[in-house]
Amino acid sequence: MDLKQYITIVEDWPKPGIKFKDITSLMDSGEAYKYATDQIVAYAKTVDAELIVGPEARGFIIGCPVAYALGIGFAPVRKEGKLPREVIRAQYGLEYGTDVLTMHKDAIKPGQRVLITDDLLATGGTINATINLVEQLGGVVVGCAFLIELTYLDGRKNLDGYDVTTLMQY
Ligand code: AMP
Repeated sequence: MDLKQYITIVEDWPKPGIKFKDITSLMDSGEAYKYATDQIVAYAKTVDAELIVGPEARGFIIGCPVAYALGIGFAPVRKEGKLPREVIRAQYGLEYGTDVLTMHKDAIKPGQRVLITDDLLATGGTINATINLVEQLGGVVVGCAFLIELTYLDGRKNLDGYDVTTLMQY
């Protein structure tokens, strides 16, 4: 299936110069959403993932159906002030802005094999911070899976040494 036909490119959003890759049109298609999820499920099996971790909000959209399909857990990574219990923190930079990500302190068991999911790999800042959180908790990052990779931003350089898979490249 050609997944790219389901991605809507929105010029100059949320800022001038950004070509926003809107995945809601892919999610609108049950067939495309299932196909994309199945690809990541297959990848998760090859890396023997025991837990899925994804940053809000689109990391949930990608990761939760994968966790459900595999019958394993999903641990959310959220912006500061959103999780109700004790958290750990990591700072990160986006293609547009900077922020802090948090995770519940008890979200991962030491040694647990973690697959990180998100919709899109741009600079890699978000996933780098997510890796930092997983490793602070003693998790082992066995892979990072994205629907989309913006190859011209070379985010993989930020994820050196980690296994990265992407379903579409721009
Ligand atoms: P980064 O930390 O630079 O890899 O940015 C990745 C995060 O920002 C992802 O969670 C995306 O949801 C979002 N993002 C960055 N650039 C874009 C873009 N051009 N289109 C859609 N989402 C983007």
